[in-house]
Amino acid sequence: MSQKLLVATHNKGKVAEFADMLADLDIAWLSLDDAGVTEDVPETGETFQANAQLKALAYARQTGLLTLADDSGLEVDALDRQPGVYTARYGGPGLTHADRYQLLLRNLQGVPAAERTARFRCVIVLANPDGVIGLAPGVCEGQIAFAPAGNGGFGYDPVFFLPDRGLTMAQLPAGVKHQISHRGRAMKAIEPLLRQVLEQEE
Ligand code: IMP
Repeated sequence: MSQKLLVATHNKGKVAEFADMLADLDIAWLSLDDAGVTEDVPETGETFQANAQLKALAYARQTGLLTLADDSGLEVDALDRQPGVYTARYGGPGLTHADRYQLLLRNLQGVPAAERTARFRCVIVLANPDGVIGLAPGVCEGQIAFAPAGNGGFGYDPVFFLPDRGLTMAQLPAGVKHQISHRGRAMKAIEPLLRQVLEQEE
C-alpha cells in the first residue's frame, strides 16, 4: 500500500497541483476532506510561517498523518505590504476573487507602474504528529497590473503582472505557473526533505 500524505486544504485543485509537481512519487495524496477532517484550524498567526505551522501541526495531530501545509498571500509595496496574511480575506467576507482584485486595483488608482511592485509569498511546512519537521519559503516577484488579463490560475492571478514575460500570471500555461510561482518554488525547496522523510518512513 502506498504511503499517505495529507495536504492541509479542502481545495482539491491545490492537492492536484502538489501531486503534479512531484508526479514520480508513489504516494496517496489526501485532502482534508479525504482524511475526514471537518473542522478548520483558524489561521490566527501574523505571518505565513506561523499559519502554515499552525495548520500542519494541528492537522497532523488530528489525523496521525504526515502533513504538508502551505500559507500564502500577496504583499503590495504601495500598500505597506498589505494584504499579506489577510489576502484571502481582503475586503471582507463573502466577496468573489474578482471583487477582491478589483478592490486592490481601486486602492492602487493613480499609482504609477514603477511603484506597483508586489510579490506572492508562500511558506510550506511539513509536520507529523510529533512536531514540525521542516519548512520552506517561496517568493514570486511582480507588479500589480492596471487591469485584469487572462483566464488561467485563480485568486489574484489576473492582476499579477510579470514584467520580464509581459504577461499576467493568469495568462501563463499552468505548467509554467507552477515552475515560477511562490508555491512551486516553496515546493521545490521542501522536496528533498519530503523525499527523505518518506524514505525513512517506508
Ligand atoms: P492560501 O494560503 O491558499 O489560503 O491563499 C491565500 C490567498 O492568497 C488566496 O485566497 C488567494 O487569494 C491568494 N493566492 C495564493 N496563491 C495564489 C496564486 O497562486 N495566485 C493568485 N492568488 C493566490
